[in-house]
Amino acid sequence: MSTAIKRFDTIAATKTVANGSGNGRPFDILKIFGENTLHMNELKDRLPKQIWKELKKTIVDNAPLNSDVADAVAVVMKNWATERGATHYTHWFQPLTGFTAEKHDSFITPNQGGGAIAQFSGKELIQGEPDASSFPSGGLRPTFEARGYTAWDPTSPAFIMENENGSTLCIPTAFASWMGEALDFKTPLLRSVEALNKQGLRALKLFGIDAKRITSTVGAEQEYFLIDKEFYYNRPDLMMSGRTLFGAIPPRGQELDDHYFGSINDRVLSFMLEAEKELYRLGVPVKTRHNEVAPGQYEIAPIFESCNVAADHQQVVMIVLDSVAKKYDLICLKHEKPFAGLNGSGKHTNWSIATSDGMNLMDPGDDPHSNMIFLFFCTAVINAVYGYQDLLRAAIASAGNDHRLGANEAPPAIISIFLGDQLEDVFNQLQTGVATSSKKGGLLGLGTPVLPHLPKHAGDRNRTSPFAFTGNKFEFRAVGSNQTISFPVTCLNTIVAESIDEMCTELEKSLEGGVEFEEALGKVITKMAKKSAPVVFNGDGYSDDWQVEAAKRGLLNLKTTMDALPTLNSEKNVKLFEKHKVLSKKEVESRLEIFTEQYFLRVNIEGEATASMAQTMILPATIRYLNELTAYAESAGALNLKTKGTAKVVEKLSSNLEDLIEALEKLHEVNEDLGGDTSHEKAIHMAKNVIPAMNAVREVADKLEKLVADDYWPLPTYRDMLFVK
Ligand code: ADP
Ligand code: MG
Repeated sequence: MSTAIKRFDTIAATKTVANGSGNGRPFDILKIFGENTLHMNELKDRLPKQIWKELKKTIVDNAPLNSDVADAVAVVMKNWATERGATHYTHWFQPLTGFTAEKHDSFITPNQGGGAIAQFSGKELIQGEPDASSFPSGGLRPTFEARGYTAWDPTSPAFIMENENGSTLCIPTAFASWMGEALDFKTPLLRSVEALNKQGLRALKLFGIDAKRITSTVGAEQEYFLIDKEFYYNRPDLMMSGRTLFGAIPPRGQELDDHYFGSINDRVLSFMLEAEKELYRLGVPVKTRHNEVAPGQYEIAPIFESCNVAADHQQVVMIVLDSVAKKYDLICLKHEKPFAGLNGSGKHTNWSIATSDGMNLMDPGDDPHSNMIFLFFCTAVINAVYGYQDLLRAAIASAGNDHRLGANEAPPAIISIFLGDQLEDVFNQLQTGVATSSKKGGLLGLGTPVLPHLPKHAGDRNRTSPFAFTGNKFEFRAVGSNQTISFPVTCLNTIVAESIDEMCTELEKSLEGGVEFEEALGKVITKMAKKSAPVVFNGDGYSDDWQVEAAKRGLLNLKTTMDALPTLNSEKNVKLFEKHKVLSKKEVESRLEIFTEQYFLRVNIEGEATASMAQTMILPATIRYLNELTAYAESAGALNLKTKGTAKVVEKLSSNLEDLIEALEKLHEVNEDLGGDTSHEKAIHMAKNVIPAMNAVREVADKLEKLVADDYWPLPTYRDMLFVK
């Protein structure tokens, strides 16, 4: 007689008490903010005046860095870090795995007397040389040529990562091959900032504005799930792939809409407060927290910063969420779709362009129709998105995001832009010539004198759009929760630089031909507005009608990763990257290779994990339960009791068991074969054969979950996991 396997539902109940270090004591944000980051003011205070001036030239005007400056900064950094208990430093970089990488070196150098001193030179600050052979290079470099260099990025502040037993100074760096090819996400991002700066300044000059620099500003909203650590370690699928490969939908999921913005569970709130505290200390300006739509789902959002710093900080947010969650016996799941049937997680990437004086070029003001600078730049964005739908789609393509895009909760795979009533109206006017009016929001009366009249925005929101104008910025909503924002932002910066370039070139030509500025400007804006009109869509992106309508408009609908990724190195996209010196053809190709490989690897892991869990956990549990049932039926028969009902249960179970075995055979078969030699062939095999075979296994397994005795079921269920206690 088989015995029942352990159940999980008592585990979380024992953990209602948070074990955080805060003990409920409030902390002074202003005092702790940035204490673990070497921000510019601190550097300024500690550096000799002349050195600071030169460093500032590098940071603000991109002047080359000289070695005296580097030496002086290195000493300041080391002193600042060791004062805070740091014993090691690391060049912190972002290889193309999408994670961050670090190799720690001690500050300590032995001296002649047998002791040791802390040392850190300008050379060590500027350049590092990790043995880079194990990072993906996408064919940029054979593994026997292992050299890779990290190079200090002075525009992103160094920070200290603490551990109970010591601290490490993290220096944000770029990562490149021995040939100078970018092997990371930061390098092209910084190059795209340059491209955007160049074209943006050129445009502003035409408007008579002499700005020093422009950059894109970014604020990324991170969605995530929290589940009890115990459940996580009992789910091989979560551990290996970050998502549940099995799991029947519980009777209660998100249909009551009771979690969204609901009051935050104490244990979760304790976690959030500690995570935020750590982030404040690291100078990451997090601002917003709330419960998200699905049970167990949450969001954290920062105040926007310049895109390069925002991208680094976004990585820090992910790292801190992970490490603090563990202290509360929680696991932070950042996969785009950890639970089937419930909302997935995105990373809405808010994006705008601003001058170094703080002028937001995406701010329409009260009368957008007459705000020509805004209209020019906004049209440039619309034109860019229209012209490079494929690139934006490719930039967010991943095995995880495939489960989200197009599901009825996330933006569809069709890239379109939501402008809102007011702006769409202006945009429509522009297509026929000059815009002469802007719709007003007015005041919203709430039907009772005790409530204030609220100023109403001139445009509503639209959750179904992958790319939405939200007041004074665009929100790229299709970005996946697990991915680095660097590449999507790099693409955005670059396509907008190209679009501004295109518009400036037309404008300059007209001006040279003697056309008045305003007339020439109107002409180019109208032309671009007309051309890119098909990409503007204010309706319901979830509806089936939109799929049909979008096809009529000629918009791309690249449904899955393997539809989208290969567009990355189309002639048009390579030309774009080369022209703006963001990526060389080889660098684009290497990215395509790596992203394709990552897709293949991820799905391959899922395929193997599905097969092994079904074979070694679900199948045996079903057979054990069947044995128990048949043993019962036998003894009941011997006692002449009725067994018709039992026989039905047995029959249903055993027929599902047979289905499971059959589906498993197919999965084993497709898992055997990789479908070819190249990453592309392997990835296609995954998409065409492995995913359907996995889904078939899951379908039966989820049926079995509802039939097999609860105490025999070997996995924590959705019901167990989703409601954090
Ligand atoms: P919502 O998504 O509800 O509009 P917020 O207005 O709080 O929420 O903004 C969401 C995110 O957009 C925040 O991270 C915020 O910092 C960011 N954001 C706001 N203004 C800009 C901007 N000019 N550039 C980039 N991001 C911005
Ligand atoms: Mg938002």
